[in-house]
Amino acid sequence: MIDTHCHLADKQFAQDLPQVIARARAQGITRMITIADSIPESRFCLQIAQEYECVFCTVGVHPHHAKDWKSADSDTLRSLVSSSPRVRAIGEIGLDYHYNFSPCEVQRPVFREQLTLAAERGLPAVVHCREAIADVRTDLKVLDLTRVVLHCCTEVWEDIEELVAQGMHVSFTGIATYPQSEEIRRVIRECPIEQMMVETDAPYLAPVPYRGKRNEPAYVLEVARLIAKLKGISFEDVDRQTTQNAMAFFGLPS
Ligand SMILES: [Zn+2]
Ligand SMILES: [Zn+2]
Repeated sequence: MIDTHCHLADKQFAQDLPQVIARARAQGITRMITIADSIPESRFCLQIAQEYECVFCTVGVHPHHAKDWKSADSDTLRSLVSSSPRVRAIGEIGLDYHYNFSPCEVQRPVFREQLTLAAERGLPAVVHCREAIADVRTDLKVLDLTRVVLHCCTEVWEDIEELVAQGMHVSFTGIATYPQSEEIRRVIRECPIEQMMVETDAPYLAPVPYRGKRNEPAYVLEVARLIAKLKGISFEDVDRQTTQNAMAFFGLPS
C-alpha cells in the first residue's frame, strides 16, 4: 500500500521520523509520497526523499502560502524538479476559500502558474480544494485530467462527477471515517476504484480509532479498510488496486 499524501517534513515528525517510517513499513506501507506546502518545505521534502528509499516527494506551494509567492519561485520549482527523479509531482497546489489564509485573488494565479509548470514538465498535480470547486474546475482545463489528483476529497459527488469521468483521480483521508462524513462515503461508493488512491495527510486528520492523535502513514490502512467495506470488496483488492493506481499515477519505479 502507498500513502500518497503525507507531510513528513512537518515539525511534528522532527523527533521520530525514522520510527514513523519504520512503523509504516512494518504495516506493509511500501512507499510514501511526502508533500510540500512551500518553497523551503519543497527542499526539505526532497532531502527526505533522497534519504529514504521508500519515500518520494512533490514540490509546490499550498494555497495558504500563496501570499508569499515570488516571481522567482517558478524557476526554483523548475530547478528542484530537474534536480532529482525523487520529485514525482507538483503539489500541493490549489484553492482554499474556507480559511482564506491568502486572499483568493492571490491564490488563483499561483495555482495556475503551478498547473502550467506541471503540464510543461509532464508531471502530475496534487490538488487541494476547499470550498472552491467551481474555480478549480475552470483552472484544471489546461491539464490532462488523468494526471490530476483531488486530494483529501470533501466534495459532493455531483460536483466532481464530470472531472472523474474525464480521468481525474481522487484520494481519501481519515476524514472519511468520521461519523459526519456520509457525503464523502457516498463519493467513495460512486467513484471507480481504478481512479482512487489512499492517503493520510499526516500529521493531520487521523482516522478513527486514532482521531485526535497525531496521524502517521501506518494509519492509512484504516482508510483502505473503510473503502473495502463501502465497496463490498476485500481489503487485499483495495490494497492491490490503489497501489497499482498510485504507481502509475506518480510513475514510481517498481
Ligand atoms: Zn491539502
Ligand atoms: Zn496535505
